[in-house]
Amino acid sequence: MGVYQGPSCKICRRNRVKLFLKGTRCETAKCAIEKRNYPPGIRSVVPRKISEFGRRLREKQKLRFFYGVSERQIRIYFENARKAKGVTGDNLLSQFERRLDNVVFRSGIASSRREARQMVNHGHFNVNGHMVDIASYTVREGDMVGLKRNDSELMAARFATKKTSPVWLLLDAPAKSIRIAHVPKREEIDVPVEEQLVVEFYSR
Ligand code: SF4
Repeated sequence: MGVYQGPSCKICRRNRVKLFLKGTRCETAKCAIEKRNYPPGIRSVVPRKISEFGRRLREKQKLRFFYGVSERQIRIYFENARKAKGVTGDNLLSQFERRLDNVVFRSGIASSRREARQMVNHGHFNVNGHMVDIASYTVREGDMVGLKRNDSELMAARFATKKTSPVWLLLDAPAKSIRIAHVPKREEIDVPVEEQLVVEFYSR
């Protein structure tokens, strides 16, 4: 199963939560959750009972859509998280957060993860001076993400007009770079998912 390419707002409505998949539109009154906060479908106004399995599946899907990854990738992340030291759920989220496309999005340079992925795929960024065009590239503590030399004015301007970024990312607008200050802790990761249910889903 590849990365989902269908209507984004339907995913939010099905899960009854804003997953911020459409960039600036998500912050406006045009957001489908603001206008129709019930699942899509003609009978969906009647609340349905959901099983324990259904709850875990829903959290897993939310996580998958939130970061825009495939089923295969999320399984790989889970296996890595399970084998690593520490809490599996925390390890899992840390891996998602440290994807290069997520770093670009969290820095405020892109308005959505989808846009961030496109920027990375088009080769606009380098890591420690080496061009990286793989959106799933995992950054490490101390890494420096920079804009490609001679990149367009538009791209450079994004650094100057950046929004706030999480504490684990240090932005240097004049140098057009982002330093990974440390690996993000659970409390520094803003994600509308109960990761423990995702762990339980894959541990069954
Ligand atoms: Fe989700 Fe609203 Fe953004 Fe659509 S506009 S993707 S419903 S947050």
